[in-house]
Amino acid sequence: MNSIAETFKEKKLKLTPQRIAVYKYLQSTTEHPSAETIYKALQEDYPTMSLATVYKSLKTLVDVNLIQELNVGEGNFRYDGNVHSHPHIQCLICGRVDDICDISFEDLNEKVTSYTDYEVVSNQVYFYGECKECKAKKTL
Ligand SMILES: [Zn+2]
Ligand SMILES: [Zn+2]
Repeated sequence: MNSIAETFKEKKLKLTPQRIAVYKYLQSTTEHPSAETIYKALQEDYPTMSLATVYKSLKTLVDVNLIQELNVGEGNFRYDGNVHSHPHIQCLICGRVDDICDISFEDLNEKVTSYTDYEVVSNQVYFYGECKECKAKKTL
């Protein structure tokens, strides 16, 4: 896997402190934050960085495939520093998005191929449910 510096050099993009900050933040979390969450989290260290800059940095990082954009169907994208294809689950109550580990859907593309004329190249699998914390709150 390429480092952010290598990838940016390859694509002839400027490695700005903002882009590095957004990338590093996403590498440090598995919480699949939205742009607003990233903006708020970086505000202390980067007080001059605007929400628009966060959006632009995210778009650039998605374009060069260093992060992935998730559309869990809430009209608002979530971002993931893990670019490998993996399934996600979202809580219908609090909205948190988690990775589902130790299960592979790699054979799904192959399976789907027999049902379509398409050449399947990728998939996004989302599950929905109630997280442990929300379930616990309900039973109180
Ligand atoms: Zn929840
Ligand atoms: Zn993920």
